[in-house]
Amino acid sequence: STKVWVLGNGQLGAMLAHAGKPLALDVRPIDIMVPTDEKLPLAADDIITAEREQWPESALSLQLSTHANFINGPVFGRLADRFTQKSLLDELKVATAPWEPVDDKSDETTLHSRYGDRVLLKRRTGGYDGRGQHWLKQAEDSKIPADWRNLAIAEQAINFDEEVSLVGARGQDGKCYFYPLTLNLHQDGILMASIAPLSRLAPLQTQAEEMLSTIMHGLNYVGVMAMECFRLGDKLLVNELAPRVHNSGHWTQAGCHIDQFQLHLRALCNLPLHRPQVNFQCVMVNLIGIDKDDRWLSLPNAELFWYNKEVRPGRKVGHLNLSVHNRVHLADSINQLKLWMPQQYQAPLDWIMAEFF
Ligand code: ATP
Ligand code: MG
Ligand code: MG
Repeated sequence: STKVWVLGNGQLGAMLAHAGKPLALDVRPIDIMVPTDEKLPLAADDIITAEREQWPESALSLQLSTHANFINGPVFGRLADRFTQKSLLDELKVATAPWEPVDDKSDETTLHSRYGDRVLLKRRTGGYDGRGQHWLKQAEDSKIPADWRNLAIAEQAINFDEEVSLVGARGQDGKCYFYPLTLNLHQDGILMASIAPLSRLAPLQTQAEEMLSTIMHGLNYVGVMAMECFRLGDKLLVNELAPRVHNSGHWTQAGCHIDQFQLHLRALCNLPLHRPQVNFQCVMVNLIGIDKDDRWLSLPNAELFWYNKEVRPGRKVGHLNLSVHNRVHLADSINQLKLWMPQQYQAPLDWIMAEFF
């Protein structure tokens, strides 16, 4: 059977392997963080993908990343660096938050005059879950950290109405397929919850699909890509891109006939693609820095994905997909979760309720 090697063995790699099973695809996530002299038994017709945008260079990672079938190879580095990612968006004329690189000549006054009294500095590489961000606030006279120069970009603070994302895939024949837009709630830079699909977001679907199509065609991309956006009225601005399966697409595991993991594998292996059918509306709640609680399994509309990682504050350790066949049943489950979950979940759980009542 076809072998698909995955650079990285976190939860995304594990869920890719899980999704490969019914297609008899042999998906092998590889831990590229441990130094080893071991060589992988790669065959010429194996397929290579990645669950992350960046990895340390080692004999092991080079073996995978230099393989002729490392799909989208050049894209990872390009999107892993916010400078080249934002430059790409500008070149393709896809709307994104106004920005510029931070270099030796950058100064706070000029940045505030260009972008306003709040400017967000983002490290060019390595940031995730809101790590690697630094706010410049004019009122507080905050400064550019010296060791961020030439390693960061400055972005205008966007007063968005809300955050949405689009997950889609491009096949080897260049055809694109999309899930409905997902509504996302971030708290302190980390995704807490998602809801999809939502009829009120349907009017934005075509705009979003055109943006992500332009990007995927521009990169000659194959597989699943995620586009995080800010919604300002009826306009979308791209926040960032991920050349991989994405947390905001986890709801598709419960809600769609082909989930994002299987869609990615199908595209990589040149298997037939379809517009994924939505079976039902879903709510996804991320489990962050909390211990597993088997009471969650007593919720009749919940599916638990537990990543079996060491629990640490701020770390994603699982997610719950709740089906929304009936909003009263959803409310019952959300109210239970409010009783069982710690303080930082109260606002996200209220946010979910507010969407339905
Ligand atoms: P991820 O885990 O999604 O990769 P990240 O660390 O790469 O996150 P971003 O997605 O760039 O970081 O930002 C995280 C969150 O910070 C966004 O989802 C949004 O809530 C907020 N944010 C980012 N950029 C801006 C901006 N220009 N203006 C206002 N808020 C922003
Ligand atoms: Mg990111
Ligand atoms: Mg993000």
